[in-house]
Amino acid sequence: TSGNSSKVPVPKKSPGHSAFWSNHPWSQEVRKVLKERFQLRGFRPNQLEAIDATLAGKDTFILMPTGGGKSLCYQLPSIVTGGRTTGVTIVISPLLSLMEDQVSHLRKLRVKAFMINGETEAQEKSWIMGQISNAGGEGLEVLYITPEMLSKSQALIRALENLHRRNRLARLVIDEAHCVSQWGHDFRPDYKELGEVRARFPGVPVMALTATATENVKVDVMHNLKITDCEVFVQSFNRPNLTYEVRPKGKNDEVLASMAETIMKSYRNQCGIIYCLSRKTCTKVAEDLVEKYRLKARAYHAGMKAQEKSKAQSDWQMGRVQIIVATIAFGMGIDKPDVRFVMHHSIPKSLEGYYQETGRAGRDGKRSGCYLYYGYRDSATLKRMIDSGDGSYEQKSRQKQMLRNVVQFCENHSDCRRVQVLAYFAEYFRQEDCNKTCDNCKSGLVFEIHDFTEQASWAVKIVRQFQHSEEKVTVLYCCDILRGDCKRPKSPDHRKMPGYGKGANLDRATAERLFYRLLGEDALAEDNVINKSDFAVQYVILGRRASEYESGKRQMKLQVRASTNSSNAKTKSKPSVAAPKKTSGTRGGDPQSTMVSSPVQSAKERRL
Ligand code: ADP
Ligand code: MG
Ligand code: ZN
Repeated sequence: TSGNSSKVPVPKKSPGHSAFWSNHPWSQEVRKVLKERFQLRGFRPNQLEAIDATLAGKDTFILMPTGGGKSLCYQLPSIVTGGRTTGVTIVISPLLSLMEDQVSHLRKLRVKAFMINGETEAQEKSWIMGQISNAGGEGLEVLYITPEMLSKSQALIRALENLHRRNRLARLVIDEAHCVSQWGHDFRPDYKELGEVRARFPGVPVMALTATATENVKVDVMHNLKITDCEVFVQSFNRPNLTYEVRPKGKNDEVLASMAETIMKSYRNQCGIIYCLSRKTCTKVAEDLVEKYRLKARAYHAGMKAQEKSKAQSDWQMGRVQIIVATIAFGMGIDKPDVRFVMHHSIPKSLEGYYQETGRAGRDGKRSGCYLYYGYRDSATLKRMIDSGDGSYEQKSRQKQMLRNVVQFCENHSDCRRVQVLAYFAEYFRQEDCNKTCDNCKSGLVFEIHDFTEQASWAVKIVRQFQHSEEKVTVLYCCDILRGDCKRPKSPDHRKMPGYGKGANLDRATAERLFYRLLGEDALAEDNVINKSDFAVQYVILGRRASEYESGKRQMKLQVRASTNSSNAKTKSKPSVAAPKKTSGTRGGDPQSTMVSSPVQSAKERRL
């Protein structure tokens, strides 16, 4: 891996405060500022290390999960006067709302914080510009600007150069630095130009911060910002106090019963969040939990009145309500430390979302549980939501890829959940370190990957035949045909179709998974039809990539329990391997055997 790895500190195992204070000329001041200005008792992992590095004048790259406390790494040094560089800290941040929040937060702490963006009033702007160019920036400590400003406003650049000449440009901070990289999920052209800008300010320490960086994003960011020699601070994204479990999603009543049972058995009077896909489901689930199970639950979604929402939130935060049933809109900026469980009534839209949402549990470090109810139907619903949403073709296909990653995660019953999720963030995790705190590690079942390319080809052929004869059938009907187990054929001819029984060796669940995978891969698609009794029915049709599977050009591999289905043994290709062994526990490993998520794949390809 990169030459920086020797500088990567070993990630600390759990969130908590650093036990040791460093001993630099500025250390005493840092301590004082932390307590008296920021009103905090200690540092979280890597905060002090990063602060010391930037105060020593070094370039830094900081990778920390969302909510990990990245802002403090540059906000605190900006008011420390004893570092190698002093003056104004320039923060480049892409989000106006975050900028506003931070400026008002800093003002409350008596920090001289300002911002310039497209919406700044002319008067304020000219005062700030005057401060930078003439007064040596005495009236400023932190200045937030948008990347556009820095790449487009010559006046601003000249003013900063002026500041730099007087040794009053303390540091350049690039927040959300993954925007610099085309490999990131949120590339912004204005960010890419920051490297050119940075070259104008030699000697000024740069600090790049992000919560999402695969290995190639990291390399890209360091390259584009021309800070290849920087100190890298990487913190493990693993949350050791959370347990993970994916549960099969049955009918609505069954899901509800399962959730209620878990809550009553394991979380009596403890707080939790249930995430649902739609507002309607939120309301229904909350009502049912109250009426059928006498649990203190409350709905929370964007369709409610502002007043109702803040009431629901405060009731939950104060513990008057045990369970909040919410859409994903809930949780941003919520800092409740004792959330003991997070349940997903339906699948999240991405693994990143899953990580963020489950991450709201157990902020206090105590053991907390995460439960995800997975049924294929929900992914079909989400896919339809993506298709009908507005967004470019590229955005939609990216959203669909993220959804496929979630489905793969749910259907993977052998690899450790932590290994899978952390691989998504390009972090290598040793399965042994899970200590059976996820369902897959706990079950100890052995799985094998089997090749179903031939059966997949027949499945597509069956659908093609129905489409050709203009007969509307469902996925489940096609399953019966493939397995040669059609008890009530719609036409006697169906039992004589060429594909009938070609998948007789598949058990029902495997056959269904095969079809669902074909749907997920766009080899098949579903057509929504409202039938006579006003019900939406999904009929299966051919998808964009049907012929690739039909011809066998594309392989179909599925995980199968090793003990069952021995009739497939002859098509067996290779056993599902456990995570590759490696001694170091840091990020940037090679998560080969885990989920084939595209970011990780492209990371590997890029490095070759
Ligand atoms: P990030 O930018 O990494 O997502 P923030 O900088 O916004 O995270 O910080 C998230 C929360 O953590 C904030 O509420 C912040 O006040 C709090 N926080 C940061 N550092 C500390 C600390 N050392 N001790 C206690 N709380 C902290
Ligand atoms: Mg932040
Ligand atoms: Zn595990």
